[in-house]
Amino acid sequence: MSKKYSVEKSRDEWKKELSEAAFRVLRKKGTEPAFNNDYFANDKPGIYHCAGCGQELFSSEDKYKSGSGWPSFTRPASKEVVETEIDNTMGMQRIEVHCSQCGGHLGHLFKDGPQPTGLRYCLNSAALDFIAEVNN
Ligand SMILES: [Zn+2]
Repeated sequence: MSKKYSVEKSRDEWKKELSEAAFRVLRKKGTEPAFNNDYFANDKPGIYHCAGCGQELFSSEDKYKSGSGWPSFTRPASKEVVETEIDNTMGMQRIEVHCSQCGGHLGHLFKDGPQPTGLRYCLNSAALDFIAEVNN
């Protein structure tokens, strides 16, 4: 990654701050196992924040059951919070999704989602911190 992010830390700093699972996903672009992660079946209302820098990334309102075993969303909370780039690893061409503030890897974007966007943001739970909505 050559681009500059507003939140930048050294590899050692990230390693110290993040859980092992979060470091593997956010900083090493790892993928956690399907159906064996915290949020794929979470249907509580709330906001999913970046586990690296805390930026609000996705809302439960845009989450849907994709059946993939990973948390899936039709859109980010706003256009500015995520960025994408072409990923040619694993012998296929995919669209990689990362946080616009810290560059942390979140997951991939596929074009087989439901309407109205037709998009599926397929994310790793370990890259996210879910904060449930509080009912007053
Ligand atoms: Zn971030």
